[in-house]
Amino acid sequence: MIPDGPYDLVGVGIGPANLSLAALSDPLDGLHTAFFERESAFRWHPGLMIDGAFLQVPFLADLVSLVDPTSQLSFLSYLRARERLYPFYFAEKFHIPRAEYADYCAWVSRRLPNLRFDQSVLAIRWSTADDMFELDIAPTGRVLARNVVLGVGTEPKTPAPLRPFAVHSADYLPARERLVATEDVTVVGSGQSGAEVFLDLLRARPAGRGTLRWLTRTPAFAPMEYSKLGLEQFTPDYTRFFHGLDEPTRDRLVPAQWQLYKAISADTIGEIFDELYQRTVGGGWPDVVLAPGVEVTAATENGGGVELSLRHVHQGGHATVTTDAIVCATGYQERDLGDLLGPLWTGLDRDAAGRLVVDADYRVGTATRGSLYVQNAERHTHGVGAPDLGLIAWRAATILNSVCGKKVYPLPERTAFTTFGL
Ligand SMILES: Cc1cc2nc3c(=O)[nH]c(=O)nc-3n(C[C@H](O)[C@H](O)[C@H](O)COP(=O)(O)OP(=O)(O)OC[C@H]3O[C@@H](n4cnc5c(N)ncnc54)[C@H](O)[C@@H]3O)c2cc1C
Repeated sequence: MIPDGPYDLVGVGIGPANLSLAALSDPLDGLHTAFFERESAFRWHPGLMIDGAFLQVPFLADLVSLVDPTSQLSFLSYLRARERLYPFYFAEKFHIPRAEYADYCAWVSRRLPNLRFDQSVLAIRWSTADDMFELDIAPTGRVLARNVVLGVGTEPKTPAPLRPFAVHSADYLPARERLVATEDVTVVGSGQSGAEVFLDLLRARPAGRGTLRWLTRTPAFAPMEYSKLGLEQFTPDYTRFFHGLDEPTRDRLVPAQWQLYKAISADTIGEIFDELYQRTVGGGWPDVVLAPGVEVTAATENGGGVELSLRHVHQGGHATVTTDAIVCATGYQERDLGDLLGPLWTGLDRDAAGRLVVDADYRVGTATRGSLYVQNAERHTHGVGAPDLGLIAWRAATILNSVCGKKVYPLPERTAFTTFGL
């Protein structure tokens, strides 16, 4: 049963970002909220829930702790509820399995009364008659809200030539059995997902099955920047600094920081190397190809397989190779919000490149009196930390402070040893 509202705040989508917002808004008396998600329950990247995959951030990057460690919805509260505190204490692990983070989030989602699943938000507009946002939600119908927070996440991105042939890494697990049994498999892309898929196939495919190939345009299978001072680029301090830079400087910085968000955890690289090394015991080389600096420029069907046209980014040479199956671990892109926002979309403030102008409180400029906020759609304005789980509680608290017009969550003035800016 969904109450009618009007709501002070409506969240669209329930991934970790809006789930953190829901968890932190729950104790705020008098703030009337609702969150709508089109899936039937909380799910976090189920297609990539590979056995043995770990969260890339410490467990303290849960939905609430970095803002309110006393919350009943912290990861430690979850462990207590599950009677797992002692095993966790003896495990001495800051990095938890990805499956455990998903289970923790699902646990939180079952404790919040204001989450609605199986609800697709179809359109958001401004209602002049009501002086509020009006949302069309299926099957609920019309919902009114003073403030709206879009937490709709990103969508898988596949290079155009590969679209007819490839499975995206986001859908890896349902395709895994087929890929394990396929003779010649090519994985494209060398971020963390590409590395996890390559490692999983390497382990699962029996020796002699055929070629497992790993191609990437980037110049190396590079480790993720994980030095302690390097990680300070995922702090509120850095986010504020980045937000204050001009647009051309921000646009130059983000690609230059690729090792903060596009590379591979050093542990996964180590596991891949060890697995390959083990296969050389007794002599010979494993039937794998690991080729950095190689771009796939075209793909055509070729006698049941797919012929890939390759270009070496540095040598400039061209080659072709025929493969039986392709996994694209080629990342994600921001969703096009045009359909959802309709006429509101055209009225939003844009930067020189046509992207949304997002203010320091994560609000996009509308001509309306209500406020529209975005989560995880602001890398161009807030930097590489936009999708990072370590910043979601802080971002959610920033939004709540803005919605409430007062500091309902006090936030630290300083979060890094590094001084960003003069
Ligand atoms: C495999 C993987 C592992 C990752 N691991 C880490 C990690 O270890 N550490 C880290 O810092 N980051 C990690 N990330 C990056 C990031 O934290 C995640 O992508 C995270 O899920 C982003 O959360 P979100 O809430 O913004 O979006 P999402 O999790 O994508 O959630 C958005 C939700 O909105 C819903 N939705 C969309 N449109 C509508 C609509 N119109 N109506 C209703 N619902 C809608 C979707 O169904 C979805 O459930 C990882 C990303 C991936 C892909």
